[in-house]
Amino acid sequence: RLAFVDLQPPDPILGVSEAFKRDTNDLKLNLGVGAYRTEDLKPYVLNVVKKAEKIMIDSEENKEYLPIQGLEAFNKATADLLLGQGHAATKENRVATLQSLSGTGSLRVAAEFIAKFLPGKTVYLSNPTWGNHKNIFADAGVEWKWYRYYEPKTVGLDFEGMMEDLRGAPEGSVVILHGCAHNPTGIDPTREQWEQMADLCIEKNHLPFFDVAYQGFASGSLDDDAWAPRYFASRGMEIIVAQSYSKNLGLYAERVGAINFVLSDAEAAKRVMSQLKRIARALYSNPPVHGARIASIVVSRPELFKEWNEEMEYMSGRIKQVRQDLNGHLTKINGDRDWSFILNQVGMFSFTGLNKEQCKVMTDKHHIYMTSDGRISLAGLPSSKAEYLAKAIDDCVRN
Ligand code: PMP
Repeated sequence: RLAFVDLQPPDPILGVSEAFKRDTNDLKLNLGVGAYRTEDLKPYVLNVVKKAEKIMIDSEENKEYLPIQGLEAFNKATADLLLGQGHAATKENRVATLQSLSGTGSLRVAAEFIAKFLPGKTVYLSNPTWGNHKNIFADAGVEWKWYRYYEPKTVGLDFEGMMEDLRGAPEGSVVILHGCAHNPTGIDPTREQWEQMADLCIEKNHLPFFDVAYQGFASGSLDDDAWAPRYFASRGMEIIVAQSYSKNLGLYAERVGAINFVLSDAEAAKRVMSQLKRIARALYSNPPVHGARIASIVVSRPELFKEWNEEMEYMSGRIKQVRQDLNGHLTKINGDRDWSFILNQVGMFSFTGLNKEQCKVMTDKHHIYMTSDGRISLAGLPSSKAEYLAKAIDDCVRN
């Protein structure tokens, strides 16, 4: 009898979409989940994805199992996208890359690796972070702690607090860093700050673990958005990097991603790879093929890669436009406040600074669905609804 099992509350992010579906009001707006929508609020399938799928159909690929580590062409392409073509680490075979189940599955494989091979080490998470980070490490049996990140007074980065906490962490701790477009705050360190963070990681022998879920969405450039992990690798550090193609290729449901370990030498990469395979084998055996084929075709064919970059710029450009729109409307309606943080934040999200009660008013009164930490996904906001959103935010901060 399993009558003792208690009820798990809905997921704080995906639960928002469930509530949105139940709302019958025409004004409703879903800014909960980080999924790109067109101006008409339609999901967007990238042209390069359609072209890659056509190539796949024409070549009559089979559906046999992939090896445990995934599709070889994908693993090569994904390491190149991350580190840049011809990087020393890939040339020297120092990168262990395993295709996994999008960002989440990749993070989980690495969490299992940490539990097995770095027992007793603590994982440090930015406060706040994507809610699922806590679940992933906790379920793998890895202890996690916060480091300071967000400064409510400035709606900006608490760089001093972050450095102090990471300096105070025991030697050799694992530090989770958002490669770009920090979720949920939209606040990234500057390059100078990244350099200081790298110095500190070297000094403290910390293991930097980048979560790269939005490559292309911060600046619009896939290359520029990989600057931080590339810089850390260039400093000779060993790093872990989880990648997701959910957002930048719009392959949400295909579950395409990878976990990369950039190591000191080829021998270490071989050994780590063998262990990642052992972990994946017991978790899900081998990854799905369809999306990995799409990603490998898009990344490795120069004409498609170029077109992807253009589509990436287009998507991130639309989000930048709605940032302008929202900032403009808020400044017009309520000029007493400084709304510049909306323009300074990058990526899909804006951290509004609205508290839990205000978020509840946003939903209950204005039918705007968002996570209760005050995060809104601008990827789900059309320009035509920016004024409605601005009025609702203004209503909440005034009352
Ligand atoms: N990391 C972060 C910071 C994210 O925001 C997300 C997506 N919401 C992921 C990882 C992974 O998502 P997925 O498993 O869909 O790739």
